[in-house]
Amino acid sequence: MSETFTAIVVDTVDGKPKAGFRQLTLDDLPDNDVLVEIAYSTLNYKDGLAVSGKGRIARRTPMVAGADLAGTVVSSRSPLWKPGDKVVLNGFGMSETEWGGYSRFQKVKAEWLMALPDAFTLEQAMVIGTAGYTAALCVDALEDWGVIKPGDGEVLVTGAAGGVGSVAVSLLAAKGYRVTASTGRPETHDYLASLGASAFVDRASLAEKGAPLQKERWSGAVDSVGSTTLATVLSQTVYGGAVAACGLAGGADLPATVLPHILRGVALLGVDSVFAPMAKRERAWRTLADHLDRAHLAALTTVEPMSKLPELADAIVAGQIRGRVVIDVS
Ligand code: NDP
Repeated sequence: MSETFTAIVVDTVDGKPKAGFRQLTLDDLPDNDVLVEIAYSTLNYKDGLAVSGKGRIARRTPMVAGADLAGTVVSSRSPLWKPGDKVVLNGFGMSETEWGGYSRFQKVKAEWLMALPDAFTLEQAMVIGTAGYTAALCVDALEDWGVIKPGDGEVLVTGAAGGVGSVAVSLLAAKGYRVTASTGRPETHDYLASLGASAFVDRASLAEKGAPLQKERWSGAVDSVGSTTLATVLSQTVYGGAVAACGLAGGADLPATVLPHILRGVALLGVDSVFAPMAKRERAWRTLADHLDRAHLAALTTVEPMSKLPELADAIVAGQIRGRVVIDVS
């Protein structure tokens, strides 16, 4: 097929990553087994860094950006998939080392794909996207740790109005946890309350460097902020509690002490979505299918065309995006 289609491609210009729109043909795509016609991609924080050039996400260029895709198999050299299958792909290096979802078509490895869960449409799968599926990985990690049960005190979600945070609030509330949302945007309180948050903490109060052991408040936490915020959350976690940490929206450092861990047995659970094994992914998507309120999903959603990605990328890096943005790549 010689038809061209639009993609967002990151190149290296004067030693720096620079993203722009580019016309591609199928012949330009990598030689992977499964050709997918993409219906939707999505905007994650990492995508914002990649498209704005504010972070070096692409480890080789040219690189088609976009960490997620949802679409329909056009052709497959692998027996795992056949034309017409509806599929989802989160991560596996897309936008870093593998060409990603900001493109009408992409060729991907068969083993990276997951069948679209029956519970969701392609659009809903991208409302969830990496951010939402990571929120589910965090919730699963906390529950696997085995010390937190619904009804056991407060669970904190930091970066609550963002993508990971919004889905984490909704999932935890649906599972019966008492959820406190930390946000720097008081104007999102009504929105977060509608997702199930029952109390709020100003994010500035967590971002200040404080004592290594503070009043015990949180049975568990989902942290997408990192840095002093994560250090404070650890110092306020109850004896035997756990914190699932997945993000660095506030910084990649962790200016903490070991005291919460060695005196209160607090667990710091690291969560990675990119190379999570398929069994973990499928379980996270089951958590989402079983517990993510579809009305919340609708409340989280904004759908935007690919042409708006440059401005949306700046907005997510500036912390101005509420909930999840689906990118219509058609
Ligand atoms: P969003 O931008 O949607 O959400 C991040 C939220 O963090 C913002 O909405 C804001 O919430 C808060 N925030 C932003 N800047 C700061 C700051 N300087 N200090 C404190 N809080 C801040 O991003 P995502 O939800 O897509 O991703 C969140 C984080 O998780 C990112 O760091 C991302 O890289 C990481 N991530 C990691 C994954 C993994 O595999 N480990 C997978 C997916 C995401 P509010 O306005 O409510 O304060």
